[in-house]
Amino acid sequence: MIRPMIGRDSAFFWEGTSAGELRIQVCNACGAKRFPPGPACPDCGALDRGFEVASGKGTVFSYVVHRHPPVPGKELPIVLALLDLEEGVRMVGEVVDVSDEEIEIGMPLRVDFNRIDDELTLPIWRKA
Ligand SMILES: [Zn+2]
Repeated sequence: MIRPMIGRDSAFFWEGTSAGELRIQVCNACGAKRFPPGPACPDCGALDRGFEVASGKGTVFSYVVHRHPPVPGKELPIVLALLDLEEGVRMVGEVVDVSDEEIEIGMPLRVDFNRIDDELTLPIWRKA
């Protein structure tokens, strides 16, 4: 399978998924939330960053259905959604147990966690 890059800026996120938490980066200077994580706040430029644990609820802003090419270790099609989280940030995630015919814009989803191994737990999304 394809593993995500886990770097200094995103370590808190992956530590969160391993602990069953969906973490969003928050600027400690101005309070802006952001995803994906990065070293500096796009709003105020501050480097002082923390995080908060998201509710894990989101709605589908848009989606794609991946039918081709094959993905190692995956059964196709894969439904990938761009989600609006309750906290006001957007993130991309794999949607499970929702068929490519069923997925629709505005559908409420909730996060779940797919533990791959000791180092990696992926966030996945299910029908709310
Ligand atoms: Zn800021």
